[in-house]
Amino acid sequence: MKSILNNQDTENHTKEIIKIAKYLSIALLFLMVVLFKYNALYKVTANGEELGYIRNKNEIQNEINAIIENKEDGVAFKNLEIEPVYELKFVSNKEDNSEDVLNKLKENISTTYTAYGITIDGKIETYVATETEADKVVADLQKEYEDKMAVEIGVKQVFEKEKIETVEEKVAIADLKEDNLDAKLKKLEKQEEQAKKKKAESSKKVVVAVRPVSGGTITSRYGERSSVRSSAHTGLDIAAKKGTTIKAAASGKVTFAGYKGSYGYMVKIDCDNGYEMWYAHCSKLYVKKGQKVSAGTKIAAVGSTGNSTGPHLHFEIRKNGKTLNPQKYM
Ligand SMILES: [Zn+2]
Repeated sequence: MKSILNNQDTENHTKEIIKIAKYLSIALLFLMVVLFKYNALYKVTANGEELGYIRNKNEIQNEINAIIENKEDGVAFKNLEIEPVYELKFVSNKEDNSEDVLNKLKENISTTYTAYGITIDGKIETYVATETEADKVVADLQKEYEDKMAVEIGVKQVFEKEKIETVEEKVAIADLKEDNLDAKLKKLEKQEEQAKKKKAESSKKVVVAVRPVSGGTITSRYGERSSVRSSAHTGLDIAAKKGTTIKAAASGKVTFAGYKGSYGYMVKIDCDNGYEMWYAHCSKLYVKKGQKVSAGTKIAAVGSTGNSTGPHLHFEIRKNGKTLNPQKYM
């Protein structure tokens, strides 16, 4: 009986073990299925955008850090512009795509370069990578253009990659000389020429060396408006007795001497540098067209011919057909 009981015990015990083993194997099988089907991966996101799934977070981070720390020549610094977020997930339908994630991260690494700006007349025109290069460029430009323009090395600055790349295309000094400097030089030369011309012209500005009528009374000034004229007065009226001598106010060549509508008898004298002097309403003319006169030469006599209400000299100064205020030249 005892042995039977013992046998029974052993039998129960064995059954129990088999039962546990069964459960264990089911659990193990389940775990295997789970482990086989589900992966423990890091979901990588940045700015809310999914970059992908990776198995090894450290590996990715180390690679990125290595890229950032490896500064090639001329690189000031590199920066990962986005901040990746890693979340550990058990996923069944995702694979480790570290390569994609790494590439996406790499795309967001910005590189900032150091460069020397070459300044021409205060404006940065180009960039070079080293100080030696900068010195050479500046020396070349200064030699060629002397003191035409201020060529300087700008302060060493940092520039974004894009900026340097676009400038680098033009960086060849030949280009710089042809495109920028030649144009600038031409502009500068033109400005100088114009300034010289202007200066020469202003130094040649006509002067009323002699008052055309001695004595007399100014009765109407340049620009005045009155009921007898439809527009502003184009000259200076000096009233004097009929027959009073009119002298050339400046030297020049007579271009007209005769009768001309409302001006009556008049003399036009070209004063060489674009200025013209008109003497109108005369009673007598003493000069002829083509005659050269010096300042003070007797050219006509005061009268009241043409559109005039009494004896007076209408004196005009014109430049390129435009009337000027004679009193500014007296
Ligand atoms: Zn007048």
